[in-house]
Amino acid sequence: MVVFSGIAGSEGIAAGKAYVYINNQTVIGMEKVAPDAVSTELEKLNEGIELSKTQIIRLKEKVLQEFDESKAQIFEAHMMMLEDPEFIGAVREAVISDCANAAYAVKKIADSYIALFEQIEDDYMRDRAADIKDVTSRLTRNILGISSWDLLSINSPVIIVAHDLTPSDTAMMNKDYVLGFTTDVGGRTSHTAIMARSLGIPAVLGLGDISEKIQDGDYLIIDGFEGKLILNPDKDQQAEYEIKIGQHSERRKKLQEVAFLPAITVDGKSVEISCNIGSPEDIHAGAANGGDGVGLFRTEFLYMNSNALPTEEEQYEQYRKAAVLLQKKPLIIRTLDIGGDKKLPYLPIPEEANPFLGWRAIRICLERLDIFKTQLRAILRASFEANILIMFPMISGVREVREAKKVLEEVKDELRRENMKFDENIKVGIMVEIPSAAMTADTIAKEVDFFSIGTNDLCQYALAVDRMNAKVSDLYQPLHPGLLRLIKNVIDASHRHGKFTGMCGEMAGSEEACIILLGLGLDEFSMSAAAIPAIKNIVRNVSYKQAEEIANHALELDTPEAVLEYARNILNQINKGSVQSTSLGRMGI
Ligand code: PEP
Ligand code: MG
Repeated sequence: MVVFSGIAGSEGIAAGKAYVYINNQTVIGMEKVAPDAVSTELEKLNEGIELSKTQIIRLKEKVLQEFDESKAQIFEAHMMMLEDPEFIGAVREAVISDCANAAYAVKKIADSYIALFEQIEDDYMRDRAADIKDVTSRLTRNILGISSWDLLSINSPVIIVAHDLTPSDTAMMNKDYVLGFTTDVGGRTSHTAIMARSLGIPAVLGLGDISEKIQDGDYLIIDGFEGKLILNPDKDQQAEYEIKIGQHSERRKKLQEVAFLPAITVDGKSVEISCNIGSPEDIHAGAANGGDGVGLFRTEFLYMNSNALPTEEEQYEQYRKAAVLLQKKPLIIRTLDIGGDKKLPYLPIPEEANPFLGWRAIRICLERLDIFKTQLRAILRASFEANILIMFPMISGVREVREAKKVLEEVKDELRRENMKFDENIKVGIMVEIPSAAMTADTIAKEVDFFSIGTNDLCQYALAVDRMNAKVSDLYQPLHPGLLRLIKNVIDASHRHGKFTGMCGEMAGSEEACIILLGLGLDEFSMSAAAIPAIKNIVRNVSYKQAEEIANHALELDTPEAVLEYARNILNQINKGSVQSTSLGRMGI
């Protein structure tokens, strides 16, 4: 038995067999085979092609179930490649004439096709090059018998162990069988953690080189409260964790009873509890947990799960779908927030020493007006007879707000000229995630309808702690008095101007932070669906007056540790007689 300590990425406990997912590129070298082994290589090639085709058919069916026809088209292209007599003929020829191993022959011919397509100055051709890379990488891995790379082929319960997981990796997971995941990199607010929370499964991240230490089939326990991974636990430990798993599911059951009650304090103050989503499908989990609406639609996932910039029509469909599912409950759509740890293969961002301080989000949109306007058109069109709000990310000051609003007005004019309908009174807000915006919130409040505090970034920028860096994760402390004061400044400024402030950073779903945020006057808490019932439970068990006093006291404390200890004590008192909290992880945020 060995215990590894990492970062508590998503709450919950899971026990099961490891599935080590290898998603880095496999190095394939030329290996000359004896002339009498050429026929064996040709057989391997045929078997690899057949296996790849079966996988692609399954993938296509799954994507059709979860998404739509447009997303499934890519698999048509993959299938055509595997059935193309010219391509397959050239590979067979390379095996025969060079006495080459089949995997190498596939790579050699594929590389020559890719080089040819990439030379052509045309987006369509470049996408074809990406398709060839994708399908031939599947083919070579199948020829080499590397099975642990296809997340879709998982057909029994496992804990995924990986270096890192991309949004497309998680989209392809067979969620019925994924008990949890654990990775080498990532922090509490990295996108891997956010995805785990939106799937409602435990995750332990930032474990260094865990993907190299663990073998397929090893028995693991992952504790997403404490950020622990136990490799091959002994009987006592297994028994201990079985009890914890039972307690956790018991608590969830109890909290579920609160999920659909209003979020109202004992002295009658109501707040909104909404959920964060990455796709319209996530709304189902939000609704099942009693969410009031969507406080953050991270639209970049639409872009990340696509091979090219999504068209206006594709985006419109997704935004419309989300609006229809919400039945007039608020839907805050954030415009593209790419850059930082989120990359698009088809939108090259120059190499940057500090990507989180670089070309990101609104900075890209205000330069690439083609991308920005396409998205704004789609959002505006979807807003007709819906309750959509627009939100701009990574705003540092009022100038960017004015520029973004100017583009929005231009797009509205365009739509009016085209007789396209949209919500003429659509509300516009910003994410407050840069300290300069938090400090100038009074100026910005005059220009917008609402704020949503993005503590994931605000914390990293205010405390100068990289949210992705496991080495400094102990310094990433959202209950730092400096951060609490910034938050207070934003809420007070918005209220002075009659505007509302929400929070969509992970702090909004933190049980320890909840009472303080409530007492600071936060109007809306937006979080991953699974966190909603526990937060509602706290709101319903405290008075606003009491919360205000607690917040004022917290603002007077001098260290993040003192605030955390104070918050935990209060939470324990509130929880006595109500549903006990089991989720007090290392920082809980
Ligand atoms: C944030 O920064 O708090 C936020 C919600 O945005 P993201 O995590 O997508 O950067
Ligand atoms: Mg952010």
